[in-house]
Formats: sequence, structure tokens, C-alpha cells
Amino acid sequence: MMNIPQHTGSKNRKFNDYSFYEKSSNYYLLPFKFHRLPIDKEVIVNEFGDFLIVPTGTVARIVSREILTDDPADVELVRDLISNFFISETPIPSLLDILSTRYRTKKSFLDHFTSLHIFVISLRCEHTCHYCQVSRVTSDKGKYDMSRFHIDKGIEMMMKSPSPHITMEFQGGEALLAFENIVYAVEKAKKAAMQQGKTITFVICTNLALVTDEILDFCHEYKILISTSIDGPAFIHNKNRHKANANSYQLAVEGITNCRNKLGAEHVSALLTTSAISLEHPTEIVDEYVKLGFNNIFLRPISPYGFALKSETKNKYETTRFVEFYKTALDHIIQLNLDGYFIREDYATILLKKMLTPFPVGYVDLQSPAGMLTNVIVFNYDGDIYVSDEARMLAEMGDFTFKVGTLGETGYQDVFYGEKASVLSEAMANESLAGCSECAYQAYCGADPVFNYATQGDIYGYRPSSSFCQRNMSIITHLITLMDSNPRIEKIFRSWITGKN
Ligand code: SF4
Repeated sequence: MMNIPQHTGSKNRKFNDYSFYEKSSNYYLLPFKFHRLPIDKEVIVNEFGDFLIVPTGTVARIVSREILTDDPADVELVRDLISNFFISETPIPSLLDILSTRYRTKKSFLDHFTSLHIFVISLRCEHTCHYCQVSRVTSDKGKYDMSRFHIDKGIEMMMKSPSPHITMEFQGGEALLAFENIVYAVEKAKKAAMQQGKTITFVICTNLALVTDEILDFCHEYKILISTSIDGPAFIHNKNRHKANANSYQLAVEGITNCRNKLGAEHVSALLTTSAISLEHPTEIVDEYVKLGFNNIFLRPISPYGFALKSETKNKYETTRFVEFYKTALDHIIQLNLDGYFIREDYATILLKKMLTPFPVGYVDLQSPAGMLTNVIVFNYDGDIYVSDEARMLAEMGDFTFKVGTLGETGYQDVFYGEKASVLSEAMANESLAGCSECAYQAYCGADPVFNYATQGDIYGYRPSSSFCQRNMSIITHLITLMDSNPRIEKIFRSWITGKN
């Protein structure tokens, strides 16, 4: 019979005497964290993101050594705990090498350092979207287009990345207003990549209003991916994305059809920007994506850059509304899948990949260490360099905190390993952030110093009132609860990861 250590029963929060922890049992604890679910269960999560859903009170039994490895009632639980590395039968697990390999694999998105290089090729735009802080309706190319000098210097810096796989993404304003500079940049970068033995992927982010056959021919030749925006049905899209004397929705839909015909459907994707009006129409937005033939939709959260900046109450309110919107839309998406139409929600898929597979996920907003600098860098139209796209949006609002250099003036080392990078790196790992360090969802979540700074005034942030935390905690809890509620939903979630029905 196992010797079961008894808890002292003390109600205070002090550590027990050493003898309490020394008490023998026939298992040893490995590092894990837990979270109480709203269904009288709790989820325990290990360092690599493996999780088990167990009845409430199980964690207390595990840590108090009350689980009996020879009790038939606990046999299944003990087997799960050992095989998923929550407890070990030896002080040092015999499969320690496997554990370290798994941890390395989860963090292997860091192996090649920065891959995504965003070139803000022009700040000019012919739309006046109400949520956009960066567009300039102007024909002053000299002032708001990236110069050839800065394009050259950006390509030089991009080629210094250790990554063998580079992505060069053109953003605006409306990137196609500077199409002749995109042609120049693509041809030059392609040559440079070939000389350096790197593969390079090009992406143009565009509202598609200006797309022509000539542009599509060029995109076809260089296998350029098109990322556009669809905010929902026409009544939402046109309200969000105003274009003088034109129907923005119609132009986007026609553009998507032309791109699909010329480039292939897999070369065209659409992104949703959730605005206040979107929050009232979750199912209509999903149905619009289905109507347009998409098999994925990215329910992106509201950006705090602008309307809710540094307003804690408003942030919390908006986040609560967003989570409700997200859950309703997700329910609808799941039902569509149950009815036989494959459509995946991208934010959930990123989280589910972290939860259900051993593989790394390189999505910059949910990474620890954070994706800024390690995964993405932004070259602005005026040559300024920022750690992320959100950092450059802050700069457009007059805050240059996250500017790390200027093309043609600042060297690679100073940008990626300089003083600012060093200060930022202290807040880039959620493993060492207060609140996150004990959070069960740490392996799924990320760190975002720019978001913390923009919404709470410092790069470390404060989790109890963080809308980033509120959103991720709610969504992750919801996904776990859904999987526990119905095995068919877990099957659908797994199909989103593999992309197969
Ligand atoms: S931000 Fe919140 S949900 Fe994410 S790891 Fe930190 S405490 Fe957990």
C-alpha cells in the first residue's frame, strides 16, 4: 500500500514544511499547470501543450499524492498522467530525451529567425476606411511612396536574414498604387534570393479595386499570393471600406474572381476586419465567405490601435462583445461542417494546432518569444524600420517607441540585436511574464509587448485587465469545452488542422 502524504489542512497560503513535499509516493510530479473549466471539470496542461480534461479536484489529488497507482479506480487516470508526462514513476523521467526533443520542436519556429519582411510600398490609398489610421488619399508619390533607395536597402537587409525561406509582403495604403515599384522590388529580390540560395514568396495585400490583367500576368509569372479583404456582405463591407463614387464590395468580389481565374484559388485569400458593425452580424459574415466559395475565414479580433487605445473599460467591453461574436460565428461554422461544408476558422486552427499536435506554429501574434523581430520586421514607406505592423501603426499616430532603425542608416545587428531589441526581449516570453508564467494556456498563447504598451502603457502588461489575455483565455477555454462536449466537434477541429474532411 502506498504511503499517502496528508495535507496539513492549513488555510493559509504559505508553503508547507519540507517534510510535506518529501513524503514518499510512487510517482513524481512533472511541471504542469491547470485551469478550472465552466463545466465542473479542470484542464491540466504540460510544458509542451498536451492537455487532459479531468474532474474538478483531480489536480488537488495529484499534487497531494492522493492518486493511487495500484487502485483500479485510478488505473486509467494514472496511465494518462504518465503517458502524457504529467507524472513520472522515476525522479527523472526515463524518456527525458523525448521531452527535450518535444520542447525543441515546439520552439523550432525560432530556428531560422526572421522570415516575414513587410514593405509598406506606399501609404497612398483610394479608399477611406473608417478604421484605418494609415491611408493617405493623395497623388503625392514622392512623399508617400517607398523610394527605390529604401527598396534596395530593404532587400539588402532581408537577404541578411539567416532564414532560407523569405516572405516579402507588400502592404499599403493600397499597394497596387505603387505597382511599378512592386515590379522593381520583386525582380530585384528574386535575383538576390537566387544568388543567396534562398526561396522567396511574394504577397501583395490589396483591396483589388485597381487590379488589371497586366498586374495579374505579372503575379502569375512570379507566383505572387494575393491577400485581400472581405468584411462581410456588401452592407458591412461598403460601410467599413468607403470608396468615393464606387462599390468597394463589388470591386473586391470581381477582383477575387479574376485572381482565381488567372492565378488559381489557392493563390487568393481574404481577411476580415472586425468592426463595431461586424459584431452584430456573425452568421451573415460567415455565410458571405461560404457564398464566395472560401473554405476558411479568419475571425480577427478588433485592433486596439485607434478607437480603443488605452481605454481599459472600452477595451474590456469590446473584447467581451468580440468573444460573443466569435462564439456565435464559430457555432455557425461548426454547424456548416456538420452539414457537410468544409470551412475552417483560422484563429481556432492556430490554437488547435498548438493544442493537438507536437508541431510549432509561426503565427506572430501568438508566439512566445513574440513574433516581432524574431519572425517579422516592417520597412515603412519612409525607410523607418519597425518591429511589427502594429508598431508602425502606433508610429502613424505619433508614437515612435518601436522604431528600431532606418533603412540605409542602421545596420542589421543594431536593428535585430540593438538596445531596443534587448529591452523588448525582456517582455517577449510569456514564460517569464507575471500572470502568464502560471497560466495553463501559456503554451498556446503568446506575448505581445506592442499590444501591452498600446493598451496598458507598458510593454509587460497587466493580465487581470488585459484584453489580449481576456480574449485568448475565453477562446481557448471555449475550444476545450467544445471538444469535451462532443467528439464530432473534436473530429472537425482535427480536420481543420490537416485541411481534410
Ligand atoms: S495572456 Fe492570459 S491567457 Fe495568455 S498566457 Fe498570459 S495569462 Fe494565459
